[in-house]
Amino acid sequence: MSMFISFGTGRSTVKGDQAIGSRGERAVSLAELDMPICPGFVIPNEGVKLCAADPRKAAQQLRHSVGEVEQVMRKDFGGEAPLLLKVVESPMLNVQSSLPSVHHIGLTETTVAAVAEMTGEKFAYGEYAFLLRSILQAALVGGTDGERARELHAYLEALKKAKTKNTILKAIEGHRDVLPVELYTDPYFQLLYVVQLFNAAFTQSPTTEDSAVQVQAMVYGNLDKRSSAGYLYTHHIVTGADELQGEFFPISFDETASNGKPINQIEPNHRKALGAMARKLEDHFREIRWIRFVIEADTLWLVDQASVPNKSAQAEIRTLLDLQKRDVVTKDYLIEKIKPGRLSEILHPTLDATSVKTLPTISGGIAGAVGAAIGRVFFTAESLITAYRQAQQAGEDTSMILAMPSTFAGDVKAIEIAQGVLSSEGGYASHAPVVARSLGKVAMVRPDAVFRKKTLVLDGHEVQEGDYITMNVPYYDDPVIYIGQGSLTKPSLEDSGLLEFMDIIQERIGDIDVHANADQPRDASLARKFNAMGIGLCRTEHMFFAESRINRFRYMILADDTEMRTRILDDLHKDQTEDFYELLKIMDGLPVTIRLLDAPLHEFLPHDEDGMKDFIAQAKKDGVGLTRAAILERSQLMREFNPMLGHRGIRVAISYPEIYRMQTRAIFEAGYKLKLEGKDPKPEIMIPLVMNPNELKVVRNGKKIEGKHILGIRDIEEQVRAKFACDPIKYSVGTMIELPAAALNSSSIARYADFFSFGTNDLTQTTYGISRDDFNTFFSDYTELDLLPNNPFKVLQPQVKELVKTAALRGRMVRPDLTLGLCGEHGAEPQNIDFIREAGLNYVSVSPYGIPIAKLAIAQMNL
Ligand code: PEP
Ligand code: MG
Repeated sequence: MSMFISFGTGRSTVKGDQAIGSRGERAVSLAELDMPICPGFVIPNEGVKLCAADPRKAAQQLRHSVGEVEQVMRKDFGGEAPLLLKVVESPMLNVQSSLPSVHHIGLTETTVAAVAEMTGEKFAYGEYAFLLRSILQAALVGGTDGERARELHAYLEALKKAKTKNTILKAIEGHRDVLPVELYTDPYFQLLYVVQLFNAAFTQSPTTEDSAVQVQAMVYGNLDKRSSAGYLYTHHIVTGADELQGEFFPISFDETASNGKPINQIEPNHRKALGAMARKLEDHFREIRWIRFVIEADTLWLVDQASVPNKSAQAEIRTLLDLQKRDVVTKDYLIEKIKPGRLSEILHPTLDATSVKTLPTISGGIAGAVGAAIGRVFFTAESLITAYRQAQQAGEDTSMILAMPSTFAGDVKAIEIAQGVLSSEGGYASHAPVVARSLGKVAMVRPDAVFRKKTLVLDGHEVQEGDYITMNVPYYDDPVIYIGQGSLTKPSLEDSGLLEFMDIIQERIGDIDVHANADQPRDASLARKFNAMGIGLCRTEHMFFAESRINRFRYMILADDTEMRTRILDDLHKDQTEDFYELLKIMDGLPVTIRLLDAPLHEFLPHDEDGMKDFIAQAKKDGVGLTRAAILERSQLMREFNPMLGHRGIRVAISYPEIYRMQTRAIFEAGYKLKLEGKDPKPEIMIPLVMNPNELKVVRNGKKIEGKHILGIRDIEEQVRAKFACDPIKYSVGTMIELPAAALNSSSIARYADFFSFGTNDLTQTTYGISRDDFNTFFSDYTELDLLPNNPFKVLQPQVKELVKTAALRGRMVRPDLTLGLCGEHGAEPQNIDFIREAGLNYVSVSPYGIPIAKLAIAQMNL
């Protein structure tokens, strides 16, 4: 009984869990699928050892196995029209072998002449030399002493130089004794000798010591006019289209030839056969496969097949959707198979790797928002916007990247038109990444980036304002910057299969909803496409940064008295009503959680001297009654040492109730207008940075104290309803839980809140006392010592979880129907989803581009 495993079309002698290595397994699977695999056999590792330890016994087994191949190929090993063999390593792991494949075993002094008759001298002797070269290389891998190695090298060099029959024979003559003489005359000796060399090479490394060897018949795509070689993928590996993608090379030995033609142009019979094989293989492995084939004198042979690790996410999804439609896989299989993070590849442009090959490359940094972006860098929002307009007018490339140490709310307008943002301060939950994610832009942070006046220094490379850079921020790898201009592959949502996949995911979503963080109609529409069940966070402060509004907002916050402030607010109120009208209309029937203003007021003021100068000039032009001195004085007063813990959120509402009053009125007026139009608006008013129940009570129910009358949200709703003379709309009032005090006070806060939304960005910041913007100054030191295993602004930390759980429990004790959501950046991180269910939350709210990822993570958890 042979210990070698034979394979050929429709048969293999493999038994149980025999270790035949990855290559052998690929061949055997083709055999077992009844595909026309070039026949051969696998010598398992113990057989390889036997060839060295007991050559006589091994030779018998080799003769037996070669005999089987001869029968299928109807050729003789060592005969007239000789069967030739190929020997390759079949490693136990799917790794690249360091040993050369040895082709054309069986070419000897005698057979080479016979082959030359059929194929011409050039080919026959060229391949004979190639065989000897591969044998010499394999001998070198096996480890040899100095003198022996020199001999082998000298022979190898001589053969490399020889190009004709005569020079090849001369080179052999000159070094004939370097290899055993039987090697030139006896095909079986050749085969045994090569396996022995492989055995010696395997023992050199623990990764190869258990490798097997595969022996396979050679077939020739260059035999005649009816011959070719080629490869194909069973689906298109970039677009995922259900078509064969590949090439064939007429009259060529393999696919390294330069005469490639699209696979679809191959002769129709072969095209049909390859198509059928592709489908069968794909159905078996339930994924895209790669196939190598040879057509020898019109007979089609498969040589190898394998998995395709570098297919695009789109290709993976579309192939699985096709497989599901063919009933090969279930919907659950589809959900299980796709890694959530890979979806971001579909939503963002991806880098064409070939386009950056020659560019200087700088790896590392913090991934802020996934994707790839190319553009000219600008170091201020103003310079970017100016350059953008100029480029637009001149019809030039408008791709730009905003590069700044950190960004502020006033820079959002530049981020909106840029491709990406590069910053040096802060991290994942800082302004630039948060805004970039919400707008579908690319962002990364490089703490070592140095900003000089008009120059950015990146790892020693100087980049001038206006120079191109290319940023690649993959989901599962470190970000990379290339100095220069690469090119991108732009995704098409409609062609990607993602929306179809989202419908399948929706069937497994269970009872945790995904809402969207959205404040622009465009984002709300995208969120609906992804089946978002509402808006969970509309950050209203983002709405005031539009060029047409920012100055009015500034005049409002700098106003000397309530009367002036109210007058300007009345004007802004019209814009806000339109904003809310649009959002509520797009999200008709679904909850829209509108967070009232939450930002330290001074963030709205110009950040540098030039900006301030322009603003003062504009104020004068607009005749708003604010002098230069008043502007400077009031701006100065507004500066805070620690703005994140300063005058923001509900605190602004307590000091300037007219601001929330304007926003609240705008919400209800938009709501009632829609109601009269037959729509079903569901506004949810959310109050940020609450620390105790009394603050919330005032804002919700109102309060009169001498001189100050804070109208409650409920009062305003009643007023607006009376004006519209309409049945009440369904609305709710709730709060963010983003301070530890609020979490611990949650039972009493719940008396005034219909819902809680956990703002885990601020909650992490305030629980751990680490600033979301400054934390990268020490994060790398902490990770080095294993003191913080994950980025706390991405992965929920234990004490934050404890606070969330406590607040959820206490809140629901008072109000069992309390709706609970989470709208911090943590909601889009698949690692947090288990906890979200465990804590009993009803939804997570994430940026529109994070919705598919969060939904898939939830669906996977529900499998
Ligand atoms: C939060 O703090 O988690 C949150 C969502 O609010 P913001 O990021 O706007 O502070
Ligand atoms: Mg917050």
